[in-house]
Amino acid sequence: MTTTSWDDLMASLGLEPSTRPRCGPTAVAECGTPAGSDRHYRLGEKPCDPCRIAKNAANTRWRRAKQLANGCPPRPPAECGTLRGFRAHRWRKEQPCEPCRLAYNAWQAECRAAA
Ligand SMILES: [Zn+2]
Ligand SMILES: [Zn+2]
Repeated sequence: MTTTSWDDLMASLGLEPSTRPRCGPTAVAECGTPAGSDRHYRLGEKPCDPCRIAKNAANTRWRRAKQLANGCPPRPPAECGTLRGFRAHRWRKEQPCEPCRLAYNAWQAECRAAA
């Protein structure tokens, strides 16, 4: 693909020509997708929040799939009194124990303070 045809294509799509890096024939990755996150990194940017979240979710799914493929339990044991402990209770469909509940409450308070 030549520069001219790419610019013409972008112009025909109503997009500014030559403002995007040309990373192959694929269209520009949308924000809120793992590919969008990769695009930010390629451009030397920090991924925006939707991209970061999408990438994290994709990574988590990928890790879990890999763990299952290796015959590992989906989660390593989590200690009580931590956020992971709390989530482990939830995951096992248990009532979280007191230390875990407190850890979760503290985390929530932290999140609210950061927001
Ligand atoms: Zn983005
Ligand atoms: Zn616990």
